Amino acid sequence: INILAIESSCDETAAAVVHNGREVRSNIISSQIDLHKLYGGVVPEIASRKHIEKINQVIEEALKEADTTLDEIDAIGVTYGPGLVGALLVGVAEAKAIAFAKNKPLIGVHHIEGHISANYIEHPDLEPPFLCLVVSGGHTHLVCVKEYGKYEILGGTRDDAVGEAYDKVARTIGLGYPGGPKIERIAREGDPDAIVFPKARIEGSPYDFSFSGLKSAVLNYINGCQMKGQEYNPADIAASFQKAAIDALVEKSMKAVDEFDMYKFAIAGGVASNGALRQAMEEACAKRDMKFYYPSPIFCTDNAAMIGAAAYYEYLAGTRHGWDLNAVPNLKLGER
Ligand code: ATP
Ligand code: MG
Ligand code: FE
Repeated sequence: INILAIESSCDETAAAVVHNGREVRSNIISSQIDLHKLYGGVVPEIASRKHIEKINQVIEEALKEADTTLDEIDAIGVTYGPGLVGALLVGVAEAKAIAFAKNKPLIGVHHIEGHISANYIEHPDLEPPFLCLVVSGGHTHLVCVKEYGKYEILGGTRDDAVGEAYDKVARTIGLGYPGGPKIERIAREGDPDAIVFPKARIEGSPYDFSFSGLKSAVLNYINGCQMKGQEYNPADIAASFQKAAIDALVEKSMKAVDEFDMYKFAIAGGVASNGALRQAMEEACAKRDMKFYYPSPIFCTDNAAMIGAAAYYEYLAGTRHGWDLNAVPNLKLGER
């Protein structure tokens, strides 16, 4: 089964051809980062307009690189939520038009199901059940993948997503957008024990996260230094922030792993490309004799190959969407 997958939920216009859910025949990503950098974050209206400009070209490239044509495609998969409504609509309208014109099945995919499914691409042995920590720009979820397409959310963030915290801290220390990779880079030169930032505890919810307190602590620390006329070391701040964030992620994930008696653990989403997070999780999993999975960086941040992987298992499960498929900006995981 060959799936043409389309992703346009945020600031990447992406298309991919994926064979049987795990073999990526092409993966084209047109990023708008340089455009949004000027504003320090994604501007929704600009994102939608750019998607419209790019989407046909990106799809053509994906088909060409896969050395295939629409006639050889078995189904069209597309992200229909969550995300920016105007951005999502571009992909959804495009997918519907192609599916209608070529008389192919249409499969709407949840963006986070895509992030999780990115793990299938490079790990032929990975099958449910497993636990997955989703850490992206807008989500921080601990998810039990019970079967293909069946998810139970064990916990999530009460406020900011981790990626969001990375981006905000980066902006405060003047590193620019997107902040994640930049914080990771300067953190390597800093001392993770230089500053002790607080770890959030949420009474009665062992698998929930909170990152707004950590973010505020970093801002307060910087403000404090400025008021006292003290110099501060951005590398130490980055390293200490990153340590606090990763400690929280590892601690709660491993608590869930122990509680639910899982022997496979995966991470997904943009922040999953972070080397320090991978290393910390790798060590924690090794201690428990657990298998640890993570996608290559290119499959961690937004891409369409992950949507193709998810769409394949939805296809097998019989999921088909009608011409009334719409963008759902706040789509919940597990909803159809
Ligand atoms: P969502 O998937 O929740 O809708 P999104 O699609 O905007 O949000 P992703 O593309 O999955 O998010 O990931 C982008 C996020 O990942 C940004 O917040 C970015 O700072 C973060 N990120 C990317 N690389 C790294 C890294 N190396 N270290 C930490 N964070 C990173
Ligand atoms: Mg993005
Ligand atoms: Fe994403």
